[in-house]
Amino acid sequence: MELDWLQYDREHVWHPYTRAIEPPVPYLVDKALGCKIRLADGRVLIDGMSSWWAVIHGYNRAEINKAIKDQMEDFAHVMFGGLTHRPAIKLAKTLIDITPSGLEHVFFSDSGSVAIEVAIKMALQYQAARGQKKRKKLLTLRGGYHGDTLGAMSVCDPETGMHSLFSNYLPQQIFVKKPSIAFDEHWESIDMDEFTQTIERHQSEVAAVILEPVVQGAGGMWFYHPNYLSSAKELCGKYNILLIADEIATGFGRTGKLFASEHARVTPDILCLGKALTGGYMTLAATLTNYEIARTISSNEPKAFMHGPTFMANPLACACALQSIEILKESDWQNKINKIEGNLRGALLDLKDHPVVEDVRVLGAIGVVQLKNHVNIDLVVPEFIKNGVWIRPFKDLIYIMPPYVISEEELYHLTYAINTIIKNNRLF
Ligand code: PMP
Repeated sequence: MELDWLQYDREHVWHPYTRAIEPPVPYLVDKALGCKIRLADGRVLIDGMSSWWAVIHGYNRAEINKAIKDQMEDFAHVMFGGLTHRPAIKLAKTLIDITPSGLEHVFFSDSGSVAIEVAIKMALQYQAARGQKKRKKLLTLRGGYHGDTLGAMSVCDPETGMHSLFSNYLPQQIFVKKPSIAFDEHWESIDMDEFTQTIERHQSEVAAVILEPVVQGAGGMWFYHPNYLSSAKELCGKYNILLIADEIATGFGRTGKLFASEHARVTPDILCLGKALTGGYMTLAATLTNYEIARTISSNEPKAFMHGPTFMANPLACACALQSIEILKESDWQNKINKIEGNLRGALLDLKDHPVVEDVRVLGAIGVVQLKNHVNIDLVVPEFIKNGVWIRPFKDLIYIMPPYVISEEELYHLTYAINTIIKNNRLF
């Protein structure tokens, strides 16, 4: 007798940010191809989420499938301590070539959150190595999100980021208000005042500033002015504080630039990548840094950088990432994203005037409708499914960031569903 999949899932499988006992029922997926996800009951959904910013080239890409199969024929994994392999070396070279210039050393890890832990440890070890042991804190922005491990959680927004649940365990960091000037608003340096005063006041205890460049993602889908980023970088330089850019969500073209730091022409001291790195196929992350930081850590006891996950630089994941980056480079991605941006603006901006809507924002291939109240996702997700789309809102946000390969027709389907649902008063 075939297992009742959903029943077993409901009784034994824990899903993200969800209770274990009597959880909401998820949808069982049978296949995914291009921008479409097929459920076990035969319904086909157009994907608006890229599986959380990751699947930029769509599902089931023949070239990526082949890259994994080819690598598998050689070996699927070897430990990275004392051994190395071409997929990791090639991927390191590729990342150094495509990221803002000056980043020359690559540390691979398993997931975005771990890449953040690695970045934090790098910053602390660097400051200690140059005799600045008192610099133990991180300065960050409210409204930020950097992952779910303890160090990463300590720099997530203190109100929305689970701080209260784990306050006894989390290191206490320094927060400034989130940038208030939007991406395309007129820049006023007053937006930097609190940041400037805080960094001045705490300069001797801050090891690094950590932020998501230009786009704050899971903390609220907010797009802020690039001058904030360039000013932050300047202030960091002035006080010998490192700048860690978390591009785990924004990397690989999502905001219209290959990396969001480019909007401000900033090279961070440490850069974290994940999610779309493998085209959303596998979990892999990377933390990049410059020669000076690598040299300082390496020339002071213990000299080694103290991190080394079992699956570091997994060859299948590296092969996958190389192929994904190749597809991106060969595609006319900037043009594609400009077109998606234009279509999102055309289809969503008018919703600004709707009484349940607080704001509508579009940047690159990200479209956000912020509502006046929180969305009841148990009501709204099934409505989206009835409309043939996979869109999963959170808090007061209905947002989409589709695969870059989405057709105009598919994209229209997504934005039409959002319009239909927002105009359905019964749901809000
Ligand atoms: N940083 C940012 C900006 C993210 O959006 C995320 C994931 N949503 C993370 C870090 C954590 O990545 P992961 O879920 O792979 O641990």
